[in-house]
Amino acid sequence: MTDPAHLPHLPHLPYVLALHGGAGVIARDRPQDGHHRALAAALATGETILRQGGSACDAVLATVVALEDCPLFNAGHGAVFTAAGEHELDAALMDGATLRAGAVAGVRQVRNPILAAHHVLLDGRFVLLGGEGADAFARQAGLAMVENSYFSTELRRGQLAAVRAFAPGAVVLDHGSRFGTVGAVARDRAGHLAAATSTGGMTNKLPGRIGDTPLVGAGVYANDASCAVSATGTGEHFIRACLAHDVHARMVYGGAPLAQAATGAVQEGLRALGGDGGIIAVGADGSLAMPFLSRGMYRAWVREGDAAHTRIFAD
Ligand code: ASP
Repeated sequence: MTDPAHLPHLPHLPYVLALHGGAGVIARDRPQDGHHRALAAALATGETILRQGGSACDAVLATVVALEDCPLFNAGHGAVFTAAGEHELDAALMDGATLRAGAVAGVRQVRNPILAAHHVLLDGRFVLLGGEGADAFARQAGLAMVENSYFSTELRRGQLAAVRAFAPGAVVLDHGSRFGTVGAVARDRAGHLAAATSTGGMTNKLPGRIGDTPLVGAGVYANDASCAVSATGTGEHFIRACLAHDVHARMVYGGAPLAQAATGAVQEGLRALGGDGGIIAVGADGSLAMPFLSRGMYRAWVREGDAAHTRIFAD
């Protein structure tokens, strides 16, 4: 097959890529250089794929793998702890061109949950696999497997201890300064959209708790007819608001442009339920929207021909 990147005379759409590394109460007085660097590096990984003519799906996958491997974020290595002092991870991927999706929930051993979600998508028989079955499927697919302790970091252990000391029953999205669920959305040069999201969930969550991240329409959604969305925040509210699909619905049924649809879903859907967090979204027309209710949201974006940007706060 001919790589479209090697056919410069063919018109193509400029690619767009955005990512997030979680939203929350991020302290302004803490140095954030490491986060800016990690966001920029993950963005560059995904952008390379788009620049070479790769698909939106492959770009969001590679971006999220880079973020899962970075201990600063609550996904893969660096994931938060459950109330049992372990890690259970959720991830999902959706292809806007085919509306195929793959997701895993409560996995404990696959090193990169987003790659397991991708295999679920490729396999095509199911959309969402959970727990031991999902880990077994990932092993069968030949993915790298790890001990559960691979995901642990001292930062997250300290957050669990602090939550337990402060309010033993609390499920905390952001203790101290960091959240860190990760996600990416992209439009490739062919105009196809994709979205991916990956998380360790919430600190001190009950074992077995599953958030919005692996649920199509809540924490992730992509449809070439409208937009691709990846969410971060209080998962239960995103599930009840069908948040990611709400952005699509506002565009397709209500005729709203992306920015209005994304802000409307976050303000009227998420905020109305008492939720917190934000989303990143790319429209089929290449527009971007990144509304959030929290004090900050780690995010980065790039458009073909423009410089890359990384941001944490609203201003
Ligand atoms: N939405 C994730 C969850 O509820 C957490 C987050 O985005 O920080 O599992």
